[in-house]
Amino acid sequence: MTYTGPVFRPPWEADSLLLQVTVGCAHNTCTFCTMYRDIPFSMDPFEQIERDILEARRLYKNVKRVFLVNGDAFVLSAGRLKPIAEKIIEVFPEVEVITMYASISNVKGKTDEELLELRKLRINELWIGVETAHGKALEYLNKGSYIEDTHTQLKRLNEAGMDFFYGFMYGAAGKGKGIESAIENAKLINSSKPIGIAPTTLSANEGTPLERDVKDGIFILATEREVYEEMKKTIELIETDDLIYYGAHIINSIPFNCVLPRDKEQALVEIDRRVSELDDDYLDSVPARHTI
Ligand code: SF4
Repeated sequence: MTYTGPVFRPPWEADSLLLQVTVGCAHNTCTFCTMYRDIPFSMDPFEQIERDILEARRLYKNVKRVFLVNGDAFVLSAGRLKPIAEKIIEVFPEVEVITMYASISNVKGKTDEELLELRKLRINELWIGVETAHGKALEYLNKGSYIEDTHTQLKRLNEAGMDFFYGFMYGAAGKGKGIESAIENAKLINSSKPIGIAPTTLSANEGTPLERDVKDGIFILATEREVYEEMKKTIELIETDDLIYYGAHIINSIPFNCVLPRDKEQALVEIDRRVSELDDDYLDSVPARHTI
């Protein structure tokens, strides 16, 4: 199998076949991200992808789920994705879902007809880097799209019957903006109805523009207390049914998974319990976090 440079996948794709179709990230300029910073983006040739599919068939008897790597594999045009999905289905007729990371811009770059065609080819359950529904914060994070795009493109996925998970970050809008962010994030979650959300927490990773702006006082990170308050408010406001909350990431202040709204009360009690155990100095600080 071909893997070039670092390969990332959501923790919940641990049992999926990882098939490389691109190297690096086509955008690669998000303010906070170091994932593929030093890896130039490129697209893998179809012949190599086909060889890897055949090799995987020899290795694995039963492949239900394929995760296409790398950074934003949905950047590939529908014209490139279709033959890849067709080949996967031909070689792995048992496959149920072909998924990958996607950005809002990647969705915007496809027509409604293309989204429907890709959905028919079992491309589904995309992992979308939404990051925040707070308009100003989104612009600062330099995701390459605006909040209006986020609302519009997630709706287009709903209409194409293409399900998705999405990632967002507590603290994305910085100090003093946690409650505003929670309200906007919950609104987006309730209206766009993802299958699940994977919240992480904004961290000023070394070598990023964000780290420089934090040092220069241009961006002020949210304190730990604000992160807890944002987390609590977001969970309180989520009303969509059977939403999987994949928050068990080491970067989070309280890593936990649950189903909302079913486990809402329990989650809120747990957050309060955790806060009650911490002293004010810690809560009013910005602790170092593990990087993504
Ligand atoms: S956050 Fe995602 S889209 Fe942005 S640079 Fe990192 S990998 Fe690329």
